[in-house]
Amino acid sequence: MAARVVVVGAGPGGLFSSHLLGRAGLDVTLLDMGDDLEERLAKLGDARPGAGPNYVQGMGGSGTFSDGKLNLNPEIGGNMLEFVSRGDADRLIEHVDSVFIAHGADREDAPSPRARELARRAMRAGIKYVPIRQKHIGSDRLPKLVAGLRAELQGCGVRIRVRTKAEDLVLDADAVRGVVVEADGGRQTLDADYVVLAPGRAGSRWLLDLACRYGIPYGYGPLDIGVRVEVPNEVMEDVTAVNRDPKFHVRTRKYDDFVRTFCTNPGGYVITEDYGRFVSVNGHGMKDRTSDNTNFALLVRLHLTEPVENTTLYGESLCHLAHTIGGGKPILQRMGDLAKGRRSTWERLEKSYVAPTNPDVTPGDIGMALPYRVVEDLVEGLTLLAKVIPGVDEPSTLLYAPEIKFKSVRMDMTPTMETRQVAGLFAVGDGAGVSGGIVTAAVTGLIAAREILRREGLACELS
Ligand SMILES: Cc1cc2nc3c(=O)[nH]c(=O)nc-3n(C[C@H](O)[C@H](O)[C@H](O)COP(=O)(O)OP(=O)(O)OC[C@H]3O[C@@H](n4cnc5c(N)ncnc54)[C@H](O)[C@@H]3O)c2cc1C
Repeated sequence: MAARVVVVGAGPGGLFSSHLLGRAGLDVTLLDMGDDLEERLAKLGDARPGAGPNYVQGMGGSGTFSDGKLNLNPEIGGNMLEFVSRGDADRLIEHVDSVFIAHGADREDAPSPRARELARRAMRAGIKYVPIRQKHIGSDRLPKLVAGLRAELQGCGVRIRVRTKAEDLVLDADAVRGVVVEADGGRQTLDADYVVLAPGRAGSRWLLDLACRYGIPYGYGPLDIGVRVEVPNEVMEDVTAVNRDPKFHVRTRKYDDFVRTFCTNPGGYVITEDYGRFVSVNGHGMKDRTSDNTNFALLVRLHLTEPVENTTLYGESLCHLAHTIGGGKPILQRMGDLAKGRRSTWERLEKSYVAPTNPDVTPGDIGMALPYRVVEDLVEGLTLLAKVIPGVDEPSTLLYAPEIKFKSVRMDMTPTMETRQVAGLFAVGDGAGVSGGIVTAAVTGLIAAREILRREGLACELS
């Protein structure tokens, strides 16, 4: 009998894990507590962009309605080199890329010959520009790609169960034996020889609960918090022509903190992500529909040390504060108002040259929501960036807060993503604190699947 594997979460981590395991003939069940793709798409229709759990939960995971910027680099979106060699990471990335290509992704964006010049300009401004291999799928095309991958999984016999929430694990001594799920109002146990947990950020708190319940040691990762910056396309087009999602790293002078740009969307839209108890912002772009603005995240990295190491709780507290001050919506402030230490109002925002692509916000004061140190880092970061991207720190520039990237709890794991305390239990993707992007989440899922195949004495066939 083929080994039974339950994979929790149908985002890139769970999908790519199931894909490799299903192709090798294992008995795979893939669960997701959210809806199937078609229901997710139908619900998107009337909802405000990014609203509701549907946006980050369900078939395809949280990246399904993103614009699918694939960063084909082992050190972006997490660091694969913590787990595998560079050569191996490159091979796994190629596999992910080839699966995406097989389901409709374009070939890679050609690297620009102007990248070196941009790196030189950035260095002179005291900033690091990180050139990377990248491709862009577009949020309008990504759902089709997920549908293709789902059909392939079903073709290899993977059972897919949506609206099925994993609640608990079944352990026998130090080995995993199954998953307790809730579906259709009832509880059920699914037996398993291996369990791959890939619950994404939406499930990171659940992973923490499991770690506490079963005495699995864990540590907290850093927290990235900041704002989504929105400027006219003209301000950014010199750099986005070199790289669609340019990565700039800044070390601030005052606090020696790490500030970075992340997820740039030329002609894109700012969206609201609903975490249930608070909201955060994000951005996406579409391949065939564009706005007049470019948005990107500007994030400050925070590490907490003992006795208060819980970056998840700290990040959530900050988001609750922003939620209160924003009346349940993201806060929007003009750079000019922030510099003057006053809140933005709709009247002041109307004087801006930039019209917000997300008007479902509360004009306010980011200084009332984010810690002083974070605000200082953001202003310094933007001022330094303006030396490379003139105009990015103009009074008209729009700042939405909070944008938060939890890289939360990481269980004590082997380099093959298996928990050291519970045999057969693997944790991958963003929720497990080992990735922060589509490709890296997928690669961590592959690493776990490959280990399961090795244990079963089966060949691992990467494309
Ligand atoms: C708006 C937006 C834009 C983004 N843009 C990009 C981009 O351009 N490029 C990029 O690389 N990354 C992007 N990302 C990030 C990317 O989507 C994530 O890094 C990636 O999806 C993480 O994959 P994952 O498999 O770890 O988790 P997820 O994709 O979050 O999937 C986890 C799944 O697990 C399910 N789940 C959680 N708990 C349970 C449970 N207990 N039982 C059953 N199911 C459960 C959830 O419903 C969810 O569907 C974006 C994210 C968002 C939200």
